[in-house]
Amino acid sequence: MNDSQTARPKRIVILGSTGSIGRQALEVIDWHPDCFEVVGLAARGASELFREQIARRRPALAALTEPGETLDGALPDGTRLCRGPDGLVELATAPNVDLVLVATSGTAGLAPTLGALRAGRPVALANKEALIMAGHLVMRAAGESGAAVIPVDSEHSAIWQCLRGEGMDWIRRVTLTASGGAFRDFPIAELADVTPEQALRHPNWSMGPKITVDSATLMNKGLEVLEACWLFDLPLDQVGIVLHRESIIHSLVEFVDGSQKAQLAIPDMRLPIQYALGYPDRLPTPSAPLDLIAVGSLTFGEVDSRRFRCAFLALEAGRRGGSFPATLNAANEVAVELFLGGLIRFDQIAELVNAVLERHVPIRDPELCEVLSVDAWARRTCRALAPTSA
Ligand code: MG
Repeated sequence: MNDSQTARPKRIVILGSTGSIGRQALEVIDWHPDCFEVVGLAARGASELFREQIARRRPALAALTEPGETLDGALPDGTRLCRGPDGLVELATAPNVDLVLVATSGTAGLAPTLGALRAGRPVALANKEALIMAGHLVMRAAGESGAAVIPVDSEHSAIWQCLRGEGMDWIRRVTLTASGGAFRDFPIAELADVTPEQALRHPNWSMGPKITVDSATLMNKGLEVLEACWLFDLPLDQVGIVLHRESIIHSLVEFVDGSQKAQLAIPDMRLPIQYALGYPDRLPTPSAPLDLIAVGSLTFGEVDSRRFRCAFLALEAGRRGGSFPATLNAANEVAVELFLGGLIRFDQIAELVNAVLERHVPIRDPELCEVLSVDAWARRTCRALAPTSA
C-alpha cells in the first residue's frame, strides 16, 4: 500500500456537475469512496438532478450560476449556497480544496479556472474554452503559482500519460487521434443536407450535443490541437491529427529517437476522468478491460480537408494566434447552436465560422476583458451573418 492510499480522501470541487463530464466524474468518485470526497458542486440551474446530487453528497459548498436560481428547502444543513457567476470562482478558490474539476461548458469556466490556478489549486480541466480563448493567461497563472493543469480530455490525458518520465526536449511530434465522427463515411456531396439527429449519432463516444457536432465537423479535433499546444508547450507544427476509427489509441507521442508511445483503452470517458482525479496514482476501474483480440485491427488515415474544413479553420486560427482562436470558438458555438436549432445547414457551420474570422481585427496578447469582448463580438457577428438572421 503506498502513501496516497493511506492518506485522507482528495477533496474535490466539480464545476458543471450535471453535465456529461460532471456526472461521469461523480460515478468515478463512487467507485472510490475512500479516495475522493466531494466538497463542492456547481451547476447552472436548480434541476432535479442537481437537487439529488446535493441531497445525496451534502457538499460544504454548492453554486448555481443562473440568476434567480435557488435550492429552496433542498439545501442540506452544512451546505452553503453561492449564487450567480461569482459562485464558481468562490468554489474554485475555497480553502480545503485539493482539486477543482472544471467541467462547465462555455466561457463560464474561464474565470474559475484562472481563480483556482492563481490560488494555487490544481485544476483538472475539461473545459475547452479556457485554453482556446485564453491559453496564454491560463498557463501563465499555472506557471506563476506552480499549480498543475491536468487534462481530462481523452487525447490530452493520453499525451500526458505518454509523457510521464520523459523529457520535454525529447518530443519530436505529438499526434492526436480522431474517430472522424458521425459523417466519416458519408458522401461529401451530401454533407450539406445532414440533419442534427444524424450529427448527434457518434460512432464511438457518448458525449454532450455540442461536442458531438464538433466531432462530426472535426472542429473538436482542431480545438484539441490548439489545447495540446498550450498544455504541453508545443508549437503548432509539432502537433498533428490522424484518423483512427476505432478510438482505441487515444493519442501518440513520437520522441527524437523515432520511438512512439501510445495510450490505449476502451473509449470510456470515465477512464481519463479517473486518471485526472487520481493523478499521480492509478486506480482500478470496474470498466471492461480492452480486449485487443476482439478489436482485431487498428486503422489509420489522413484527415480530408474537404470533409473536415472546420479542423483546418481551427489550425489556421491557431497559426494566426492572438484573439483568433477565441473568435473561432465563439463563432463555432453560435453556428452549432443554429445548426442544432434547424436554422442553418451543416456545411454552413464552417462557412459562418470562416466569415466571422475574415472580419476579425486581432488583438495580439489579449487580457481577460478583451478576450470576453472578442467572444461577444464574434457571437453577435455570427448571428448577424447567419443566412436566416437568427
Ligand atoms: Mg477529445
